[in-house]
Amino acid sequence: MANFVLSQEELLEVYRHLLTEIGPRGWWPAESPFEVMVGVILTQNTAWKNVEKAIQNLKAERALNPEKIAELPLKQLEELVRPSGYFRQKARRLKDFVSYFLDCYGGDVQKMADQNPETLREELLSIRGIGPESADSILLYALEKPYFVIDAYTHRIFDRHEWKDGPVSYDAFQEYFHRNLPRDAALFNEFHALIDYVGHHFCRRNPLCEVCPLQPWLPSRGERSREPVENEQAKTGEQ
Ligand code: SF4
Repeated sequence: MANFVLSQEELLEVYRHLLTEIGPRGWWPAESPFEVMVGVILTQNTAWKNVEKAIQNLKAERALNPEKIAELPLKQLEELVRPSGYFRQKARRLKDFVSYFLDCYGGDVQKMADQNPETLREELLSIRGIGPESADSILLYALEKPYFVIDAYTHRIFDRHEWKDGPVSYDAFQEYFHRNLPRDAALFNEFHALIDYVGHHFCRRNPLCEVCPLQPWLPSRGERSREPVENEQAKTGEQ
């Protein structure tokens, strides 16, 4: 298992620095918790601008609610979410998700939020096509539960800064954040959003270190001349 380098205080220092330099991200951009859930499913393997188009299609059709998504013929739902890519798979996943949401919670976000979060996480992970990143995004951004979201950018930034010394599982990486940060949904929300911002705008395949807010944390002793570690799980949509 990988070892992590940053102490609790250093991790918080990175967070505070990013917040000062970049400012609050206001995540998740949505008008309702259900819209967040739909966005989480649609954003898999695509850029957010494509998700926005699909969500606009659903809104225009007055279909951004669990009952309507359950009722819509699959073909029609596929057409509505087509801009988000992998549209057949995503339409199927939306159907599976709303079926669970309606069966278990009557489509009521508050009932879902009242469920034990660990039970909820297991339930979400049991739905086809929902992995840990999507499950935790729903828990954190739709239901305000303190579950840190790990994505490809988190791996990449930690690798490039040598803040971990090798591959690490999703759960072990999340556990590191949970052990080293206050278990606070607002903090987790903002920190993950800031990591995403750094990854999207600076920590690309060809990193823009010179203008990146994390530049002061680059490894010293000349390690920067080494090739940064690539992470093949890179979030899509980047150049
Ligand atoms: S300083 Fe460079 S390696 Fe570090 S996060 Fe920014 S772009 Fe990535």
